[in-house]
Amino acid sequence: MGWDVVVRACELGRGLFAARPFATGELILKFTGPHYERGDPIHQTDTGANLLQTGWRSYILLDPPGVFANHSCRPNAGVVHNRLLAAIEPIAPGQEICFDYSTTMAENFWTMPCRCGSPACRGVVTDFRLLPAEVRDRYLRLGIVQGFIAGHARVGLRANLAQDGSCDTVPGRHEGG
Ligand SMILES: [Zn+2]
Repeated sequence: MGWDVVVRACELGRGLFAARPFATGELILKFTGPHYERGDPIHQTDTGANLLQTGWRSYILLDPPGVFANHSCRPNAGVVHNRLLAAIEPIAPGQEICFDYSTTMAENFWTMPCRCGSPACRGVVTDFRLLPAEVRDRYLRLGIVQGFIAGHARVGLRANLAQDGSCDTVPGRHEGG
């Protein structure tokens, strides 16, 4: 695919780097790969770390180059519409492109130690619902939380604001599961 990214060695193995400048909100690449369900044995293997969660029970096993996008607790990109990686701030050519894996995670079992090196590093990559509230709110405002998780989070928020007459619609899921 003709994405404007390159895969290069970095501190944590390999990473995804910008091959040109990206403006805030700009599409970087589309995540693709074969579909797997939650119960699949692949989750118990090392390859399971390359699964992107797209629904409560559905995943895709990421193809290159998307599979090389590393996690950061202070990301410069995020996942929109379940499958698209978009810049959330200006990204310069040569800069590594990272997203916060927790914005796609509702697993109840899988975690990963984090060595992203950001001053904001949480030390462990875990489910979205376990993030600090201000971090969740920021990601929800940016629209970079997977639809199946964001819809759920907004339902919770709306329940807390039962007196508030205004009412957003909850976006439909793109995937079953
Ligand atoms: Zn971190």
